[in-house]
Amino acid sequence: MSGRILVVDDLAVNRRLMEAMLARDYYDVSFADGGEAAIEMALKDPPELVLLDVQMPRKNGLDVCRELKAHALTCHVPIILITANGDRQARLDGLLAGADDFLAKPVDSLQLSARARSLIRLKRSADELRRRVADGQRLGLSSEGHRMIFGQPSVVVLDDPTEMARPVGASLEASFRVSYSDAAQLGAKATDYADLLLVPLGAKGCDPLAVVAKMQAREASRDVQILCVAGPNEAVLATRALDLGAHDILTAPVDEEELLARTGTLLRRKRQVESLRMQVEDSFEQAVTDPLTGLYNRRYLLSQLQPLLKRAELGGPALAVLVFDLDHFKRVNDRFGHDVGDDVLREFAARIASNVRPTDFVCRLGGEEFVVVMPNTTNDYAVLAAERLRMVISGDDFGVRRGGVWLRVTVSVGLACSENAAFAPDQLLKQADQALYRAKQAGRDRVASAA
Ligand code: GH3
Ligand code: MG
Ligand code: MG
Repeated sequence: MSGRILVVDDLAVNRRLMEAMLARDYYDVSFADGGEAAIEMALKDPPELVLLDVQMPRKNGLDVCRELKAHALTCHVPIILITANGDRQARLDGLLAGADDFLAKPVDSLQLSARARSLIRLKRSADELRRRVADGQRLGLSSEGHRMIFGQPSVVVLDDPTEMARPVGASLEASFRVSYSDAAQLGAKATDYADLLLVPLGAKGCDPLAVVAKMQAREASRDVQILCVAGPNEAVLATRALDLGAHDILTAPVDEEELLARTGTLLRRKRQVESLRMQVEDSFEQAVTDPLTGLYNRRYLLSQLQPLLKRAELGGPALAVLVFDLDHFKRVNDRFGHDVGDDVLREFAARIASNVRPTDFVCRLGGEEFVVVMPNTTNDYAVLAAERLRMVISGDDFGVRRGGVWLRVTVSVGLACSENAAFAPDQLLKQADQALYRAKQAGRDRVASAA
């Protein structure tokens, strides 16, 4: 995988070293020799990853990290800090400043390459979600006002009686709901809803890499953040874990503050992804939903009718559509106001929707016109269903809360069925519309069939 990386280091020799390591993976690399230059370059053309030296004169790496993470253009760019070996405080400060990871000098090229791949891959999938949210917003499908409520995050620890699982779990218990699970139980419901899974790579009695792979393979657990704990001699395992989809690696002996800092970063990232996913789902739902009634809209109707009719044309089961138009609805608005009219439309929608089969679907075409699509339905059955739905409307007066009004509402229904060789959506809807017109002509509050 290639990608665009910005390397920031005040020493030319370090920059050349990085260049040589990154060249093997064919990254497109640019260089900055100080903090100011780095920020200027990153804002001008945001890279996909920043490798950032901590110790630099004037503006140091931590300041650069904080500034980039605070800026709208660069806040989603992952940053790996390059620290002097053993500088624990710089590592913790770095994680708290928003860095996604750090590597100690001298940088190990395998580790660097696995970390870079993993962070760029994560960034790209989050970018894809952000792009879809932005597309939705451009189409006017904003999901603003969306509120997510988060409880205390939950952590599942892959249990390993011989190793470090329990002590690591114990240090998380103050901040999270922690539970323990063996490899066989993983992938059950509880882990699907966990926020974070902790995997000791030295766990006995199971294959920890298989656990990572399994979590990533399943749709339901894909967003669970996987933090692996690697022993001092498990660098190769750690690299493979990252390639299999682990989100972060912690090296034993575990430093409790580092554990909490990394966990915090992972959980923040998970919430971003979740919130993005939800916004995407919302905007897709909005695209096919009528806001007044919550029913499907015309766009959805047409997208579903096409394939259903194609199947019918090829010898599949027949399909019926019912077109509903409220009778003298204008009078409701004129007498009681538009708000009462809206309430009547909502009540109408609710009655129809709760009186059709689960495989039928109800759409609002617009105004006071509705359509029920009935897959797998003959003309004769559709006539009976239409008659029953008409009674569901006119049989009981509509009680409208606002103003305590009770009114009698009636509806006329036009029906068409693919049995009568109407296999194009607009042809079938047109036949139903013509039948509806006849129902209106004949005095309203009745069903007319195209057949
Ligand atoms: P007919 O029996 O011939 O169908 O008479 P009608 O009055 O129902 O038909 P017409 O098409 O003349 O009027 C439909 C009315 O529906 C006019 C319009 O103001 C009203 N309407 C359309 N959309 C809405 C809406 O979203 N809310 C409300 N309250 N009224 C709506
Ligand atoms: Mg009407
Ligand atoms: Mg009308």
